[in-house]
Amino acid sequence: MVSDTYHDELGPEMIVEVYDPSTSMHGFVVIDNTALGPGKGGIRMTPSVNKDEVFKLARAMTYKCSLAGLPFGGAKSGIIANPKEMSRAEKDAVIKAFARALKPISPSLYVAAPDISTAEHEMRVYAETNGSMKSCTGKPADMGGIPHELGSTGFGVFHAALVAVKHLGLDVRKLSFAVEGFGNVGWFAAKHLSEAGARLIAVSDSRGVMYNPRGIDFEKLARVKKEQGTVTGYDDGEVLEGKRIIEVDADILVTAAIPDLVTEDNKNLVKARIIVEGSNIPMTPGVEEYLHKKGVLVVPDFVANAGGVISSYVEYIGGTPKDMFRMVEEKIVKNTSEVLEKAKQAGVKPRDAAMNIAVERIKKAMKQRSERVVKGGSERKK
Ligand code: NAD
Repeated sequence: MVSDTYHDELGPEMIVEVYDPSTSMHGFVVIDNTALGPGKGGIRMTPSVNKDEVFKLARAMTYKCSLAGLPFGGAKSGIIANPKEMSRAEKDAVIKAFARALKPISPSLYVAAPDISTAEHEMRVYAETNGSMKSCTGKPADMGGIPHELGSTGFGVFHAALVAVKHLGLDVRKLSFAVEGFGNVGWFAAKHLSEAGARLIAVSDSRGVMYNPRGIDFEKLARVKKEQGTVTGYDDGEVLEGKRIIEVDADILVTAAIPDLVTEDNKNLVKARIIVEGSNIPMTPGVEEYLHKKGVLVVPDFVANAGGVISSYVEYIGGTPKDMFRMVEEKIVKNTSEVLEKAKQAGVKPRDAAMNIAVERIKKAMKQRSERVVKGGSERKK
């Protein structure tokens, strides 16, 4: 069971627990809501993974897929195991046993993906065992996977930033920006914003912040990061302590690393006019409320960073990388615009408007589903 606090009118619809004595596989899947489509969510493999944790992640997927406008519901699964103590063959055997056990509900109700300790290789094993390429996403390119390295999430974050800029009636070429984190998300967000003409003035990684109000050249920065492993090796600017990224006087702040970056203690230091949440939960809704009242436009994580899940959908329908870029742009622009417009009309912060849109879409689909069931039942009786 998931604890009582974690179920409501949306879900979970189903929790399936599976075992395989021959490989000692013990796993489960929490299917939160499938009104919009099969539940989408990764396979987490850790010794401590539990149903409450997985339910919260499944619910986050329910909201994210709904808001992204995808025909996916929300789900997530867990395999209780310590991959560090397993050989490749043992891990493969456990994934195979999990895929076999879930075959009756995957891909019909559950479409898997990578999460902690599962990646492309595990998705290959899962899909081959299941027999359907639709049973998971995040597969290797030779199986129709769309590589993470193409930067779908950072590309989406960039488009969310452009919508926010336009929403405030500003010109991106006259704005400066800062990026927290220079990994998959931060790198591509910085690249596209630089190419659009905004001025990068600060960028951070786990070693600190590189700050230069005159501007940081993206191509040179990318070379330095590749060669030296850190942005702090860029030779033109000042190195600041990591968390000071939120204090710099950039117009736009893109978050792309850690949770809880902006807290009750440092929220008053924020100078940006726009914050685009590329990372998950970089601040609490309370901190977002404070910034909203201060006039900062915060594009919430599940609106801005949905590029990855949109890319998964393109893989699911057998699309190409070109289709991915087209769909990420189209959906992120449409959804971010709708969220910011509704928030403005209702005088609420964007997260509240986004949640309303996501829940409304799910409830509408649930209603249609129950009407179909009633109609189907009465037609059978005739
Ligand atoms: P990544 O591992 O590729 O990069 C993380 C970056 O953060 C690295 O540059 C690292 O040096 C930096 N970093 C670590 N600690 C830091 C600190 N204290 N201060 C500043 N920088 C620090 O990760 P990613 O894929 O780019 O993901 C970044 C965030 O976005 C995570 O919160 C992730 O959950 C979220 N996210 C990622 C995706 C995706 O598709 N990659 C999708 C949705 C959400």
